[in-house]
Amino acid sequence: MPVDVSAIREDFPILDRQVNGEPLTYLDNAATTQTPRQVYEVYEEFYEGYNANVHRGIHALSHEASVAYEEAHDRLAEFVGASGGREEMVFTKNTTEGINVVAYGLLDELGPDDEVVLTEMEHHASLVTWQQVAETAGADVRYIEVAEDGRLDLEHAKEVIGPETAVVSVAHVSNVLGTVNPVETLAELAHDAGAYILVDGAQSAPTRPVDVEAMDADFFAFSGHKMAGPTGVGGLYGKRDLLEELAPLCYGGEMISHVTFDEAAWNDLPWKFEAGTPPIAEGIALAAAADYLDDVGMDEVRAHENELAQYALERLDSRDDVETYGPPAGVERTGLVAFNVEGVHGHDLSSVLNDRGIAVRAGDHCTQPLHDVLDLPGSVRASFYVYNTKAEVDRLLDALDGGDAFDDARAQVEAYLSSDRYHDRVYEHHRDPKNAGGLADPTFSKHSEETTCGDEGEFHLDVSPDGTIERVAFESESCAVSRAVADLLAGHLEGQSLDAAADLDGWVVDALDGRFPDLRRDCVVGPEEVLREAAQEYLEREPEGIAGDD
Ligand code: PLP
Repeated sequence: MPVDVSAIREDFPILDRQVNGEPLTYLDNAATTQTPRQVYEVYEEFYEGYNANVHRGIHALSHEASVAYEEAHDRLAEFVGASGGREEMVFTKNTTEGINVVAYGLLDELGPDDEVVLTEMEHHASLVTWQQVAETAGADVRYIEVAEDGRLDLEHAKEVIGPETAVVSVAHVSNVLGTVNPVETLAELAHDAGAYILVDGAQSAPTRPVDVEAMDADFFAFSGHKMAGPTGVGGLYGKRDLLEELAPLCYGGEMISHVTFDEAAWNDLPWKFEAGTPPIAEGIALAAAADYLDDVGMDEVRAHENELAQYALERLDSRDDVETYGPPAGVERTGLVAFNVEGVHGHDLSSVLNDRGIAVRAGDHCTQPLHDVLDLPGSVRASFYVYNTKAEVDRLLDALDGGDAFDDARAQVEAYLSSDRYHDRVYEHHRDPKNAGGLADPTFSKHSEETTCGDEGEFHLDVSPDGTIERVAFESESCAVSRAVADLLAGHLEGQSLDAAADLDGWVVDALDGRFPDLRRDCVVGPEEVLREAAQEYLEREPEGIAGDD
């Protein structure tokens, strides 16, 4: 049975709100989903009825809280197909913490002869964590390649996973490509090689039925806030015998069974991994989210996700000015599509869409290496959930056209920047930058990588021997706002001292009379930070002053 979207939307009052005078179209679900009243009402019940710490008090409230919190573990174990109940389900803060628990727990087992195998489509949550652990252990990290069609290259997986492999850590579903990875096959390859497999379920637990036993995952991590649950809580499934062996990541109260002045023994599973006061209300609410999703039906959620993704893909692919990423239409994917519109930076497009009440995400989505493989600084991502409709996909596509008033998305960006939301000076510098480009022989340059949007840029400075800045130029493919501000700033610094550049602190905000939408604050203050750091670093390197150069 298809998902009854109208009935579901009734459970999410937030979807009735307006943004910029338009109905909210929330298409940022891969980042965080909205929460139904059935889930957040649990907070009210908890705080009104039985708020207390767990496992610590011999009183009614503590007992009630403990029972609900423990049962929530059983419920989440059931939700992901773990038959071992609470002993196989650790509550964490989020997927990132779950991955850290496993990676650091296995640290002592890893050494210089070992390899950790990831994929090129891993989220930083996995990639950065394993890089750190591998470095500490002296192990190598290898990556299974993503094929041209956005799916994993399984032949390459077979080459990479071998006798040296100690751990395979893979995203079940890519948060950029929407690809659903064959985790069962990867688990078989890992186990044949004598390795563990950790599945990052951040994007799969919310969007499809998960059966950790059928996929034979050793560990499976997920986040509450991406599956109609609250923030601050996630789950880590682990096979019981493996969790028994795994060293805890965090130490303190609650995770111990016995303590002396010299040593301590660990508590039973899963409490051994839940040091200190855990996310009690959040954990109980997460169980309510599992109930909610099971009532909708995870098979239905999966079908709805795929249907919306295919529809969005079809409509986006039919445009000449749009490039989409990930598996081609017709191949099952989760409910998201990442894309770019020719000639329009993702941040600018997101601002234009936000003006129409449409929430999407632009940037590298915490997958910088994947964007390097795709040779892109970033992308715009529309991601759907159970309450989204085809009409909302149409609204997104209509917004790209800009209705009758605009020729294309680029014209909309022009209109947005020249509107009275921004200072005229931003528009002026966007239209006619005076300082864009390189310098023949700069005194020094500063390269910057903007981590939220994946942009790279460079400032070049010519400085005279007495420390006067003679010329500043910039090269950047950033958004229109960031480029305009870089140009404004470059012009301002000409003739100023290097010390003035090193002291920059809010000049741009003052110069624009504070007039820019809050949402673009990073784009506005970013260039100033880069220039300030550049000047400070140069002055530190050359403490004798510029004259000392000659
Ligand atoms: N893994 C994937 C595939 C994700 O998409 C995300 C979040 O977007 C994470 C891990 C990290 O999730 P969290 O920030 O909840 O720890």
